[in-house]
Amino acid sequence: MMFRASVLTLYPEMFPGPLGASLAGRALGTAWSLETLFLRDFATGRHRAVDDTPAGGGPGMVMRADVLARAIDHAAPAGDQRPRLCMSPRGAPLTQGFVKELSAGPGAVILCGRFEGIDERLIAARGLREVSIGDYVLSGGELGAMVLLDAVVRLLPGVMGHEASGTEESFEDNLLEYPHYTRPQIFEDMPIPDVLVSGDHAKIAAWRRREAERLTRERRPDLWARRKPG
Ligand code: SAH
Repeated sequence: MMFRASVLTLYPEMFPGPLGASLAGRALGTAWSLETLFLRDFATGRHRAVDDTPAGGGPGMVMRADVLARAIDHAAPAGDQRPRLCMSPRGAPLTQGFVKELSAGPGAVILCGRFEGIDERLIAARGLREVSIGDYVLSGGELGAMVLLDAVVRLLPGVMGHEASGTEESFEDNLLEYPHYTRPQIFEDMPIPDVLVSGDHAKIAAWRRREAERLTRERRPDLWARRKPG
């Protein structure tokens, strides 16, 4: 079963963009499919406006609920089981847990905002789940959608091959990943830590665990506080 992504955007020419390269690009058309819908195609009137001035005044423009609703209804007609997402700095922060959940499902319908944002009634009327990729403001949702899809696609079966253990990566158990090393044995006077060349797999595993815990405590006390015991 293919993961089906439908992206609703004013800039369909941005896609697949980076998602067309490397692992995600190779898997496009097999493990996953990508459809873009041009929001202006769902606008009416001489100017095909997708936005209008904000009710109550203020700067910028707001994307119209009626135009976006037509686009969503076209992309995901009644019965479409895919979650409907809307990229938004106000959304729930994107996590590896949610990425995993999405990758186990049939796909996603992703609305990319532009301008000041989206008419609130559309979000309620179409049950959109707002997703943020971080506490900063982008000029549009497209890069956010790409970030989300990149994270999802690498987890799809067959995309990453054996490197895709997906079990010992950062954020599993709310831990950051341990440090990596490879040849040369000595780089600018710095050797690879002895334990990693000892061949003692139990000791190596214990060292990696300790390092992951140390890094998490030092760098991400928020994650450290949320880690599961054991
Ligand atoms: N006025 C809004 C920002 C709008 S930015 C505010 O202050 O909250 C325009 C669009 O970019 C948004 O509708 C959203 O789709 C996208 N966007 C901006 N920052 C984002 C983020 N951190 N995560 C996901 N999408 C974002």
